[in-house]
Amino acid sequence: MSSNKNIEQSPETQSIRNSIRHQSLYQSVQEFSGYKEKMQDLMLPNVEFIDPSNFKKQNECIVCSIEFTQTNRQHHCRMCGNSCCGVCSQKTINKNRVCDICYMKASQITAEKKRTKFLQTLKESAKKLRKHIEQAEKKKQDLKEERDAQSDKSQIDLRVIEKETEDYRLKYSQKTQDKCQYEQEVEEIKKKILELNSLKEQIQQEFQEKEQEIRAYDTNLYLRDQELNDKKTQLQRLRQQKEELENMSNKIEQNPELVEEISIPEPIQQIQKEQQQQQWYNTNIDIDEIMYGNSDNSKDSTTLIKQELPQKQLKKQNPNTPSQTKENNEDENEDKYKCIIF
Ligand SMILES: [Zn+2]
Ligand SMILES: [Zn+2]
Repeated sequence: MSSNKNIEQSPETQSIRNSIRHQSLYQSVQEFSGYKEKMQDLMLPNVEFIDPSNFKKQNECIVCSIEFTQTNRQHHCRMCGNSCCGVCSQKTINKNRVCDICYMKASQITAEKKRTKFLQTLKESAKKLRKHIEQAEKKKQDLKEERDAQSDKSQIDLRVIEKETEDYRLKYSQKTQDKCQYEQEVEEIKKKILELNSLKEQIQQEFQEKEQEIRAYDTNLYLRDQELNDKKTQLQRLRQQKEELENMSNKIEQNPELVEEISIPEPIQQIQKEQQQQQWYNTNIDIDEIMYGNSDNSKDSTTLIKQELPQKQLKKQNPNTPSQTKENNEDENEDKYKCIIF
């Protein structure tokens, strides 16, 4: 720069001015690059440094134009080979001292490259992102459509399920009612079974009683048969007597003088005795005793016999009334035989 001014000024003022210039330059460099703190040592690929034999010999710093002195020592930038003071060559590239100008250029270039690269990356990223966004949008649309379709399907399914649920609920309540009804019916049937069982027992008891009655009747019938046989025998005898008597009567009609010689035959007296015995037998026979082995009249089944018994006895006890008119009707039944006998 202007070397005249530097010569005119005293070293003290020069030093102050130098420091001020350094400060302002430093500030501007700082402001300009903005990378100062981060870029004290730049690491750059493919950088060619100058050979020390090509270092330029200059009296002042290429950056700040301050003259070199004993205290302000001369250095060399490894990039441009220019002389520079220590203050203006504090930074390094690949560990090689460079002047602030070269450093600034390099860092600017690097920053530019980086920026360009970064911009490129950003663009690519943006492109990718846009693509991603497009894909995402498409996917979103697809998903939305799918979701809508599924939602519709779900809605339909849900309605179907709700209807089915309602149906099942109805069926369930119906079944529950049916169950209650069935339970009631089962209860009623159980009651009926109990009633029928008791009825069965009752009928069995009655059946046993009837059987006993039948047995009693059989016994009675057997007795009556015997009685009937006796009567028949008696009737036979009486017929024989009647014949004899008729014969006798005929003889008497023919020979009236024979009357005094004839006597009543003995068998008639015997029959009269048997009749009396039979009467006693009919009135005193105890059916209860035959049937149950005692004379207790409280049993219902005995009343049946007792109702029938008097009729028979009546017939036997009144032999002289209407039946006597039907004499000698031999083809009639047993009862009529009895009537004739009495
Ligand atoms: Zn300098
Ligand atoms: Zn340089």
